[in-house]
Amino acid sequence: MLVVTEEACRRVIGRAEAFAAVEGVFAAMARGAARNFPVLREALGHADAIYGVKSGFDAQGLVLGLKSGGYWPGNAARGLTNHQSVVILFDPDSGRPTAMVGGNHLTAMRTAAAAAVSIARLARADARVLGILGAGFQSAFQIRAALAQRPFERILAWNYHPEMLPRLAAAVADTGVPFESVSLDALGAAADVIITVTSSFAPQLMKAHVRPGTHLACMGTDTRGKQEVEPALLAAASVFTDEVAQAVSIGECQHAVAAGLLAEDAIIPLGAVVLGAHPGRRSEDEITLYDGTGIGLQDLAVAAVAARLARAQGLATEVDW
Ligand code: NAD
Repeated sequence: MLVVTEEACRRVIGRAEAFAAVEGVFAAMARGAARNFPVLREALGHADAIYGVKSGFDAQGLVLGLKSGGYWPGNAARGLTNHQSVVILFDPDSGRPTAMVGGNHLTAMRTAAAAAVSIARLARADARVLGILGAGFQSAFQIRAALAQRPFERILAWNYHPEMLPRLAAAVADTGVPFESVSLDALGAAADVIITVTSSFAPQLMKAHVRPGTHLACMGTDTRGKQEVEPALLAAASVFTDEVAQAVSIGECQHAVAAGLLAEDAIIPLGAVVLGAHPGRRSEDEITLYDGTGIGLQDLAVAAVAARLARAQGLATEVDW
C-alpha cells in the first residue's frame, strides 16, 4: 500500500491536475459510470467536532475509496487546519487497500476546481470582475482557481467578518489582480462571477444584489441548515450542481426546494454540461448558479491522481500490508 503525505500531495496536485480530475469524474457521473454512496456525518459530542465519511465508486476510472474526516473548530488555535481528512483507496477487484492519501490539500484543490469547472462552463466569456463572499481557508484557493478560467481584472470581496479580509488580500497579492473590500451592494453591481464560500447559516447574498448575466458558484453550503444565498436567487437562476441528491439534502438547493421555489428535476448536473448533453448558459442575461456541495468522487478522483504522480516521482512510501 502507498502512503502519500500532505506534503507529497502539495507537490504533485496543482490547479491543472485538480481541474482535469474533477471535470473527468463529473462527466463519468453524468454517463452513469460513477456514483457516490450515502454520506455519513455525525457530531461527535467531543471537541465540538463534526466527523464524516464520503465514499463512492468510479467504474470507468476504476477508483474505489472513501474520504474520512471532518471539522475540529478548536484546531486553528493550535496552529492546525480546522478541516482534517484522509483518503483511502481500494483495489476494486480485490477490496485490498492500495493507498492512503492526505486529504487536506486535496479537499481545498478539488473544491476550488469544482467552482473553476463551473466558471469555465457557465460564466460569460467576457467576465472580467470576480466577486467573493468569504475569507477563510478555502477563499484563496477559490480565487486562484477562478483566475485561471477568465482574464479577471478586479477582485471584489466581502466577508461577514471584515477583519479577515486583509489576510485574504495579502494571500492573493502575488496574482497582481487588484483586490478591493467592498459592500455587498457594490460587489453584486459589478461582479460577473461571484463565489460564496462561507460557513453561514443565513442568506447573505440576496437576489436584489445580483445582476443579469452573473454566474454564481455557491461552495460553502455542505450541511443541512447552512445557507449563503436567498432562495429567490435560485428561483431566478438556471441551477447546476455536482450531484442533485446531495444538493437538495445538504446543498444550497435544500432551502429553495423546501420553499417550493425550485423543482428538484430542474437542477442540472454539471457533468451533463461537460458531456455536451446540456448547453449550459443559454443567454448573456441568464443567471447561472452552481451549487457545489462537495462529493466523495471528487476526493477519490484527485487522490487517485496524487497517488499515481507521487509514486512516479518517488514521493510516496510503499508499506507492506
Ligand atoms: P473557514 O472556517 O476557514 O472560514 C469560514 C468563513 O465563513 C469565513 O469567511 C467566515 O468569516 C465566514 N463565516 C463564519 N461564520 C459566519 C456567519 N455566521 N455568517 C456568515 N459568514 C460566516 O472555512 P473554510 O475552510 O474556508 O470553508 C468555508 C465553507 O466551505 C465551510 O462552510 C465549509 O464547510 C465549506 N466547504 C465546502 C466544500 C465543498 O466541497 N462544497 C469543501 C470544503 C469546505
